[in-house]
Amino acid sequence: MLATQDLIQKLETKKIPRYRAIQVIHAVCKEGKTSYATITTLPLELQRELETEVPILSLKQVRQVASKDGSTIKTLFELHDGLKIEAVLMHFKDGRHTVCISSQAGCQLGCKFCATGTMRFGRNLTYEEISDQVLFYAQQLHHQDQRISNIVLMGMGEPFMNYDNVLKALRVINDPDGMNIGARNITVSTSGICEGIEKLINEDLQVNLAVSLHAPNQELRKKIMPIANKYSLEQLMTAIKNYQDKTHRRISYEYVMLKGINDSEEVAHQLGKLIQGQLCHVNLIPYNATGIINIEGSIPEQIRKFRDIVKEYGVPVTIRVTLGQDIQAACGQLANKAAKEGEIAKQKPLEVQIKNS
Ligand code: SF4
Repeated sequence: MLATQDLIQKLETKKIPRYRAIQVIHAVCKEGKTSYATITTLPLELQRELETEVPILSLKQVRQVASKDGSTIKTLFELHDGLKIEAVLMHFKDGRHTVCISSQAGCQLGCKFCATGTMRFGRNLTYEEISDQVLFYAQQLHHQDQRISNIVLMGMGEPFMNYDNVLKALRVINDPDGMNIGARNITVSTSGICEGIEKLINEDLQVNLAVSLHAPNQELRKKIMPIANKYSLEQLMTAIKNYQDKTHRRISYEYVMLKGINDSEEVAHQLGKLIQGQLCHVNLIPYNATGIINIEGSIPEQIRKFRDIVKEYGVPVTIRVTLGQDIQAACGQLANKAAKEGEIAKQKPLEVQIKNS
């Protein structure tokens, strides 16, 4: 769905008063209406006009799979040009309903452990395509008398490579007259695009920042995350320090546990030393084997040992609960599976440079 202001402008060019746009946004976001025909406050003629000219959702569900325990629902969407993206809804035992969304179709950054990184890059998503992943699940939950509690941008793509559209989408998601999901319940996760972190400092939107660290030294980081060739660990730590000094907000470090790669005791000490004293939290993420990449996840005992060492440095650290392992819940896995099964048209490669913004 368009942002309220964009919808108002669009309708005003047709001499339709702005209150109609507000009625539409309210019906779609607050009442879970999925078609104009059911928005009975609108005149019939306008319902028909909007149905053809302003689609409620800019993406179409291709496939939806649920984990056996029902905790995780993953949806594969098709965009207007045939590209596919994924979004996941996770129901946690504490009552949270978290949606993980994508910011790009594919990803250019090629992290060695990531299924999305093995796909060809399609393009940046529009703000509507990003916020509509949330709207889709918000409408589904509305019909079950539930509400989304958290949003994480940890799906396909690097959010800061699509900065402007991501920020606009977040404003749409946060809009009190629309989906009304609090900024403090939204987390943007970056693999370490320093300019994005610096830019976020000056936004008036108080979203949470997560940094996918995955390695506490430059050499190891370069091995598993090619983005470290562009932004060194030192530059990343400087950007994080600026962010923390200016916003006084806690950041989360994401750390995926890869057997024999980044899970040794020595590396745990390095991580503890690197971030001790920071206002932060570390999430150790058990690795979902992708079936596409030849990397295994660390064994639970090693993850616990790693956690205990990091804790010795006074760093808050937890092991993330993993959901949906039976449905390829890690980002890019469903899209990859669909590609193999011929559901995905070949995604066009696109050369995009990492810009200094
Ligand atoms: S982990 Fe994130 S940044 Fe890295 S390749 Fe996958 S989607 Fe891209």
